Amino acid sequence: LISLEDVQKWYGAFHALKSISLSVRKGEKIVLCGPSGSGKSTLIRCINALETIEEGKILVEGQVLDGSTKSIDAIRREVGMVFQSFNLFPHMTVLQNCTLAPMRVRGASHADAERLARKYLERVRILDQAEKYPAQLSGGQQQRVAIARALCMEPKVMLFDEPTSALDPEMVKEVLDTMISLARDGMTMICVTHEMGFARQVADRVIFMASGEIVEEAEPEIFFKSPKHQRTKTFLGEIL
Ligand code: ATP
Ligand code: MG
Repeated sequence: LISLEDVQKWYGAFHALKSISLSVRKGEKIVLCGPSGSGKSTLIRCINALETIEEGKILVEGQVLDGSTKSIDAIRREVGMVFQSFNLFPHMTVLQNCTLAPMRVRGASHADAERLARKYLERVRILDQAEKYPAQLSGGQQQRVAIARALCMEPKVMLFDEPTSALDPEMVKEVLDTMISLARDGMTMICVTHEMGFARQVADRVIFMASGEIVEEAEPEIFFKSPKHQRTKTFLGEIL
């Protein structure tokens, strides 16, 4: 479903992604972890065409991301993204946040967009808040709306960039539960998170990045029990 071949990215003179190769099968769940500044956000932003790459190749559903508007639009239709800060439109209700992109980008009718929005708001168990504005919701609720909004585009893959790290501890679980439930439904997911319980529960593979490189990847069982690289061990020692 997703394939990265020898991807290189620089920010000016800074080499942010160093020869990243990765392929993600349909239905696979990947947890991406690593120290701050290791390039995790950069990597997933590249997959969603929010960043350009200098070398290498990214394919989503066989579509090459070549920087053309056409390929960017095609890829964004397949890829849903949820950020650490929920990025909801503050002046729109929950429902309007969810119907905007399907109407604008996919040309859905108002009625169809609303039907879709209600379905996914129900899916993240927040339909009762549909008429509220983001500021009237808790962080956990806002993040679930952000997930529903992404799902309204019916993406083939969901990218999550530390979706729970801005939340108060008591709200982390409701968001993780939503993600677990999506995973159980077979959604292809790449999640940047340090929630290692989540990784253990749903990840098919855990990928550890440091200094712009993939240092190690393994099934969670093996990754946590017997990490091979010293950098992985040090990292796990700090967060577990
Ligand atoms: P964190 O865990 O703190 O979110 P990360 O692994 O997501 O870290 P990135 O945000 O991908 O790290 O950043 C990787 C490196 O690239 C960092 O050193 C960062 O300073 C640098 N970087 C990120 N965005 C830019 C930018 N727009 N311009 C220049 N440098 C950037
Ligand atoms: Mg980041």
